[in-house]
Amino acid sequence: MLELKNVTHIYSNGTKALDNVSLSIPKGMFGLLGPNGAGKSTLMRTVATLQTPSEGEIRFGDLDILAEPEALREKLGYLPQDFGVYPRVSAYDMLDHMAVLKGVASAADRKATVETLLNQTNLWDVRKKAIAGFSGGMRQRFGIAQALIGNPDLIIVDEPTAGLDPEERNRFLNLLAEIGENVVVILSTHIVEDVSDLCPNMAIISEGQIRMTGAPLDLIEQAKGTVWAKTIERDQLEATRAQYHVISTRLFAGHTIVHVLSDQDPGKGFALVDGGLEDVYFSCLADVRRKATSQAAA
Ligand code: ADP
Ligand code: MG
Repeated sequence: MLELKNVTHIYSNGTKALDNVSLSIPKGMFGLLGPNGAGKSTLMRTVATLQTPSEGEIRFGDLDILAEPEALREKLGYLPQDFGVYPRVSAYDMLDHMAVLKGVASAADRKATVETLLNQTNLWDVRKKAIAGFSGGMRQRFGIAQALIGNPDLIIVDEPTAGLDPEERNRFLNLLAEIGENVVVILSTHIVEDVSDLCPNMAIISEGQIRMTGAPLDLIEQAKGTVWAKTIERDQLEATRAQYHVISTRLFAGHTIVHVLSDQDPGKGFALVDGGLEDVYFSCLADVRRKATSQAAA
């Protein structure tokens, strides 16, 4: 169990990237869903002990990770959002090197570890190729391979599916799903399907604040009966926005489908939507925006 209590982070330029974040993250896959700039990477780097928060406490089991970052790092596997420069070193040699750094001292153990991971991530056939020449999907699979060295108890993957094509994304999510239920895996993403496909527990973050936490199915259940849809012409959009609490719009076959939030039937041709996690997410973000606007107006 990973426990964050009142974690705040303010960068030296004054940006408050995390605002009093408290979260309990159980074993299994946990989805941290939020738009760009929400604070996801800041949260991930903070838990990975790469930066110290301005305020707050973080515990992993019995371990106070701010007091003992070294001890946390021994249990940690981390795939950062930006992996930086990709070396002209083969996948095999790079993994071997990283296993040395992780403390896998014996050559025989290292060989076993590296070979297992290359097979698990489907990189065995390209193990002798330079990582610099890998496709996005191969790089991310390599990223998971290096994160899994030394059987970590806490695995952090920061926006791993961004930029992957659908097939690679699927492959990558399947790989994550195999990691197992006995470790804490935190997956950050701005893609709703990553969370709904994979995560039994989740949180929504925006502007540094946790807006919602729970099981996706429970959150969807709570939103039932509140989301309504209607197909409109594009030129009706402004009027619709003025009249209803629009949470999302999308084009379909040249028409615009609007989703609005309402506890009662809005009539006027709106039909109840069997809402999914996307509706939960968009209504959560729309709520935040609406509150900000009404506060600014007051
Ligand atoms: P996300 O990963 O959800 O996109 P980030 O954690 O990267 O969000 O960023 C959260 C906020 O903090 C953004 O406003 C971003 O511009 C700001 N930020 C991130 N890193 C730094 C930094 N090193 N210095 C100053 N501001 C930063
Ligand atoms: Mg990020």
